[in-house]
Amino acid sequence: MGRSRVLLALAALACFLPAPASAATTIPDVSSSFWAHSQIAWATSQGWVPLRANGTFAPKRDATRLNAANALELIGGYDVVLDGSDNFETRYLINDFAVSRGIPWIYGAAVAAYGLTMPVIPGRTACLRCVSRSVPQGSRPCASARW
Ligand SMILES: [Zn+2]
Repeated sequence: MGRSRVLLALAALACFLPAPASAATTIPDVSSSFWAHSQIAWATSQGWVPLRANGTFAPKRDATRLNAANALELIGGYDVVLDGSDNFETRYLINDFAVSRGIPWIYGAAVAAYGLTMPVIPGRTACLRCVSRSVPQGSRPCASARW
């Protein structure tokens, strides 16, 4: 699994999984105030994401934010895109790229105990722009939601 895919998977975990009740795990290089601390601690405790021998998480320091210039490189070579991003700007970018290239993609979103999915099969189903022509105003990323 490539580095970008690991980060996308972690972003998806952070959005789709509830924070574990006991997130007391200490990871030296992940601050307990970091928004995804409890999800990272949980994922490592389950063995989904290995810690290094010294107990550090060592997340990818040069994480790449998806944008129009790197979309081809990051998601252009896939047969399907599973989106667990936390903001509409990224979802619309994925939508426009995937639809223009005929790549099926699945939009997934969740906050707290509810969520939704929207499979987009270019040429066969509605896409995100069919639902709303532009990015909804006033939307907040899930990391800013407080429950
Ligand atoms: Zn459409």
